Amino acid sequence: MTVHIKAKRARILGHAVHSFLREATPLHRSAIPRKDRIVIATSIATPSLPDQNYPISLCPPPLQHGLLYPQTRPLSIVIAGGSLASLITATILLSLPQPSHSINITILERLPPSNLQDLGAGIAISPSILAFMSRYCNHLPPPKYAAPLHAYRQINREGKVTTESEGKGQFWATSWGQLYRVLRGRFDELSDDGRRGRYLCEAVVESIVEDGDRVVVSYREKGESKQLAADLVVGADGASSTVRGLLLPEVKRYSVGYACYRGIVAASQVSLDAQAIFQDMATFHWAPRSQMLSYMVPGNGGPADEIGRYINWVWYQIRDEKEMEELLTDKDGKKHKFSLPPGKMRLEEIEKIKMKAGEELPEVHKEIIRQTDDVFLQVVTDSHAGGNSFCGGKVVLVGDAVAGQRPHVASAVMQAVFDAEWLARLVQGLASPEEFEEETQSFSKILVEKGKELGAVCMGDFDPTYKDKTYYPLFFGTQALLKAKFDKLDELNRSSASNGVL
Ligand SMILES: Cc1cc2nc3c(=O)[nH]c(=O)nc-3n(C[C@H](O)[C@H](O)[C@H](O)COP(=O)(O)OP(=O)(O)OC[C@H]3O[C@@H](n4cnc5c(N)ncnc54)[C@H](O)[C@@H]3O)c2cc1C
Repeated sequence: MTVHIKAKRARILGHAVHSFLREATPLHRSAIPRKDRIVIATSIATPSLPDQNYPISLCPPPLQHGLLYPQTRPLSIVIAGGSLASLITATILLSLPQPSHSINITILERLPPSNLQDLGAGIAISPSILAFMSRYCNHLPPPKYAAPLHAYRQINREGKVTTESEGKGQFWATSWGQLYRVLRGRFDELSDDGRRGRYLCEAVVESIVEDGDRVVVSYREKGESKQLAADLVVGADGASSTVRGLLLPEVKRYSVGYACYRGIVAASQVSLDAQAIFQDMATFHWAPRSQMLSYMVPGNGGPADEIGRYINWVWYQIRDEKEMEELLTDKDGKKHKFSLPPGKMRLEEIEKIKMKAGEELPEVHKEIIRQTDDVFLQVVTDSHAGGNSFCGGKVVLVGDAVAGQRPHVASAVMQAVFDAEWLARLVQGLASPEEFEEETQSFSKILVEKGKELGAVCMGDFDPTYKDKTYYPLFFGTQALLKAKFDKLDELNRSSASNGVL
C-alpha cells in the first residue's frame, strides 16, 4: 500500500515537473536536484512502474529490446558535438546490424569547418583504438593514420638517454586532424548521402527537454533557433559539455594548477640529431615540478604513410591563478578560459617560454621549441560527471563530457571508444541504462584517479630518477586496468555475436 502511494505520487510529481521542464529555462531546470531528475525521467519514460518493491528511484526501466528494435520508424539520434567521441559513436551505431535506414543520426557541432583543425597535440593510439579502427573503418591499417611509437625514453639535461622502456610495440601516435579526417570520411560513407546521417556545423546545442518518449533538442544554427525531436540524445560535447551542464549543473571543470605549452614543428626543420632522437620514440625530460614530452606525429594532409612527419612537444609548467589569467589573455586582449588556440599567444609569452627552454632543457628539446613558430597553451583540468545516463537511457554523455582527464594518461580517445561500444549495447538492448552507466563510469573513474596520481608524479618536486622509476609502472599499470575493461567488453560482444545479436 505504501509503495503504491509512493508510486502514484511519483507519477503525479513526474507530470507536474515535466510540464515545468517544458516551460523552464536551463537555469530553472538546474534547480531540480539530480536525484529527483532521475525519478522524473524514469516515471515519464516508463508507462507503468516496473518492480514496485524497489524504491522508485532505483526501479530499472523495462529493457525490452533496447531502443533500436521496437521501433517502427527510424531511430532518431542527435549527437551534441562533432569531434572524436561524436564520430566514434556515430560510426559504431551506423555500423550495427539493422534493417536498412533504421538509424538516423544528426551531429550538431558548434564550430565552423575552418576551426575544426588540430590543436597541434599528438594523440596516443592504444591497441583498443587500433581494434576499433580496424573493426569499424574498413580494416584501415595503422600506418595509414598514425606513426609508430616503439619505446619511451628519458633524456637528461646533457641529452644522454638514461632509461628506455619498451612500448611493447603496442602504441602508435597520431594527431587529432588525422583521426578526424578518417572518422569523418567513414561517417560520410555510412551516412548514405544524408539519408542515415548528417553533420551540421555552426549548430550550437542550447537545451534539451524530455517530451513523452522523445527528447527535444533546441539549437541555434548560424543564428537561427531550431529544434529536433530525438529518441536518443548523446552529449559528446567535451570537457565543458553543455548537455552535462543542463543535467548536472553542479559538476564543474576546474584548473589543477598547471598548464601545458604545446607546439609542432616539421621534422625536416630540425637537425638530423634531433630527428634521430625522436624517430619512433616518445622522449621525456623530467625535472622537479616540470615534464617535457615530445614524439613524432603524421601531418594532416593525407594518409599518414604518404606525408611528412612532425615533432610535437608538450611542456608542463606550474602557474598560479594570476599567472594563468595573464597567460590566457590573447594578443588581442581577449581572455580565454582553458586554452589559447594556435596564433593567439602574445609574442612576449612565446619569447619567455623559449628563453626558459634555453636555460632548462636538453639541447634537442631546446631546438624543437626554438624552431616552433606558434606556441599555444592548454590548462590542465579535471572534471567528472558522477552520472552519464538520464531519462531511462534516452540522454547519455560520452567521452570528455563524462570525464575530462589529464593528458598524462593519454587515454581520452580510448574512453570515447569504450563509451560508444557500451552505448551500442544499450541501443540494442544488450545492456540496461544502469549497466551502461556503471561500466562507463568505472572506466572514467580509473582515468580520473590515475590521471591525478600521474599528475602528482610528473609535476611533483621530485628528482628525475624518482619520476622515471615511478611514472612507467603507473602509466603501464593504468593501461593494463583499461585493457582489462576492454577485454571484458570484447568478451561480452563476442558472446552476443555468437548468439546472433551483434
Ligand atoms: C578542434 C579540436 C582539436 C583538438 N585537437 C586535439 C589535439 O591535437 N590533441 C589532443 O590530445 N586533443 C585534441 N582535442 C581534444 C580531443 O579531441 C579530446 O580530448 C578527445 O578526443 C575526446 O573528445 P571529445 O569528442 O569527447 O571532446 P572534444 O574533442 O572536446 O569535442 C567536443 C566537441 O563538442 C563541440 N561542442 C561543445 N559544446 C557544444 C554545443 N553546445 N553545441 C554543439 N557542439 C558543441 C566542440 O566544439 C567540440 O568539437 C581537440 C578537440 C577539438 C574540438
